[in-house]
Amino acid sequence: MPLYKTDALILRTYKLGEADRIVVFLTRDRGKKRGVANGARRPRSRFAGALEPLTRVGVAYYEREQRDLVRLSYAESQCSPLLASRPDALTHVGYFAELMDEWAQEGDPNERLYRLGTSTLDALAAGVPTAPIARYFEYWLLRLQGVYPPHVACHRCGTALDSEDGGARLEPGAHLFTCPACAGPEGGGVRLSPDALGFLATAGRVPPLQLGAVRLPPRVDQELEAVHRSLMRLHLEKELRSTRVLRDVRR
Ligand SMILES: [Zn+2]
Repeated sequence: MPLYKTDALILRTYKLGEADRIVVFLTRDRGKKRGVANGARRPRSRFAGALEPLTRVGVAYYEREQRDLVRLSYAESQCSPLLASRPDALTHVGYFAELMDEWAQEGDPNERLYRLGTSTLDALAAGVPTAPIARYFEYWLLRLQGVYPPHVACHRCGTALDSEDGGARLEPGAHLFTCPACAGPEGGGVRLSPDALGFLATAGRVPPLQLGAVRLPPRVDQELEAVHRSLMRLHLEKELRSTRVLRDVRR
């Protein structure tokens, strides 16, 4: 039975039997895995403090052919989201982990997704504000999955969308961006202002640790959030449990 050692991000856990947990984790090199952590719910377990969602851990696990579940030998916390002791950061941790769990495929290596997760965790732990991290994370997650529509030029007429009086509209149903002229005065869909497009351009080239210096007024944050929710609903064909939690927390 081969033993694999690697770095991983914890995505979620659930109870198994009297004292154990099933742990879903994204490895750096071998995709998403599902494994049993024996005794993880005992008070002095060797897994203590390492199984919170979005914790970066060093893990070792045994994998047997023809078995879906691996067996965790150990998991040691390297960076915990609990370092970001702000309440809004902690409510977002579950959201980030749930999104990664939805999109990561079991056994399908995805190092870019892993790096998006770890850089998000590092930014949260370093005290970068939560809102720009969340919009950045959604943007890159959708981009890595190939579902973020091109947002540089209008898909109908080719006009650049980032001019000062421009902006874009997410075309309802089509999930493509058009310029205001093509969208028309009655054009439905969610609007992105030039400032929101500017944030996306910045998000395309800086790591999340630098987001503390990037301007994101509440109005722009709301525009981007609405567009990202719409794209995610379309592609996941459901609403996430954690987006309902985030909405309830805000009320
Ligand atoms: Zn156009």
